[in-house]
Amino acid sequence: MASAPPAPRAIQPLPFASPSQLDPLLQDFLERASVQLCRWLGSADQRSPLPGLSILPAVEPQQRGLDATTLLADLQLLMDGAYNPNHPGALAHLDPPPLSASIAAELICAGLNNNLLAEELSPSLSRLERSLCKWLAEALGLPPGSGGVAASGGTLSNLMALVTARHARGLQHCQGAVVLASADAHVSLAKALAVMGLPREALRLIPVDQQGELQLEALSAELNSCAVAGHPVLAVVATAGTTVRGAVDPLEAMALLCQRHGVWLHVDGAIGAVFALAPSQAHRVRGLGAADSITVNPQKLLGITKTSSLLLLADPSQLQKPFQTGLPYMEASWGGGHGGECGLQGTRPAEVLKLWLGLRQLGLDGIAAICDGAIQRRRQLESLLQPLPDLVLRGGPMHLLAFTPAALTPAQSEIWSESTRQQLLTAQLMLSRPCYQGHYHLKAVLGNPHTQPQHLQKLAAIVGASLAAQP
Ligand SMILES: *Cc1c(COP(=O)(O)O)cnc(C)c1O
Repeated sequence: MASAPPAPRAIQPLPFASPSQLDPLLQDFLERASVQLCRWLGSADQRSPLPGLSILPAVEPQQRGLDATTLLADLQLLMDGAYNPNHPGALAHLDPPPLSASIAAELICAGLNNNLLAEELSPSLSRLERSLCKWLAEALGLPPGSGGVAASGGTLSNLMALVTARHARGLQHCQGAVVLASADAHVSLAKALAVMGLPREALRLIPVDQQGELQLEALSAELNSCAVAGHPVLAVVATAGTTVRGAVDPLEAMALLCQRHGVWLHVDGAIGAVFALAPSQAHRVRGLGAADSITVNPQKLLGITKTSSLLLLADPSQLQKPFQTGLPYMEASWGGGHGGECGLQGTRPAEVLKLWLGLRQLGLDGIAAICDGAIQRRRQLESLLQPLPDLVLRGGPMHLLAFTPAALTPAQSEIWSESTRQQLLTAQLMLSRPCYQGHYHLKAVLGNPHTQPQHLQKLAAIVGASLAAQP
């Protein structure tokens, strides 16, 4: 027997906002979602920075779509299990609380649903991105006429920088080209080379000194030996703020050396470049403006919601050389290049919106206050940890501080760091546990503006007790 035809579906309006009136369902949904989010942020210190296992809501869509109430309840389950960056003890990583204007801008960005691929899909926002990149590039010290493009994270910014440098030097078909960076440079450089089809050995790691800074003489020697051996140097990468300890390579001297050798200097300032915007802190990254290109991640210290990264260049027209494809299905750019032809990404959201609104909300004073506060907390923690016997501190000029007991073997350092991290977590203080130069460390990132002196005092007390408990 043939089965009966399916019953006709009840026709209900699909959940897109009405184009002809203020949509009460959308408004209600957003208002309730906002309240739910504000409650989550506003109760952060009643939960751990790192929640335990939580219930995951059903992942598959059901036959019938769900209403806002059910969806918000499902959302709450995920929020309960989310990492909690608004907690004052969230000190583990470069993931600060979200800045309020950037949350609002993110919502508007989603609602606008523009596309930075092409100007006809984002007329005002493409211009905003170009203008803001130009402003920021010049504010970081790059010359007039500089600019850049936004990217979904520093990994992409670094990749685009190296692809651009390779093209600018005419090395795109050269398998023997090398990149020189410090041993403490970010892992994204290795990824970039893999994507670029270069062998692992193409990344030449230059040793760092006691402060975690690239050794200039070793770089100079490597540049000379590359010249002698006929290995073209695709780029030198300086790091302004290394990921474990916040060291800053000698930017000015590296720029001079690169100029002398005619080599592209990229500064990975994912962590440190924003300090150039704070007059009282800019000396920490002196020389930044002498780079050919800079990666900056406002998603880190400044709390612009993820993702927010920019690649800035002294000569932004270089970006179009590797990435210009023509977009035959789009009207021509009227502003100097579609977003999709100035970088690797195609369709992408207007991440610039939350950066722009966030920077305007902070003002230069607010930006400086964030940087000053982070440095002050690092100093505070340093002065609390310094008196502890046999603790090695590894810092730099930024807001990061890593430490480990002096006399432990690598295996002992692993055990110590694990148990101390656990004790700290019990006290709602979350630190990370990087392995650095063969030893496990605990690492605090002091970019969280909610962290108070008493949190740091508690941190130091727990570390002190765990040192004293060492056999
Ligand atoms: C975080 C970081 C990156 C990578 O940025 P993502 O946004 O995580 O892709 C690159 N370099 C340094 C020094 C970093 O700390």
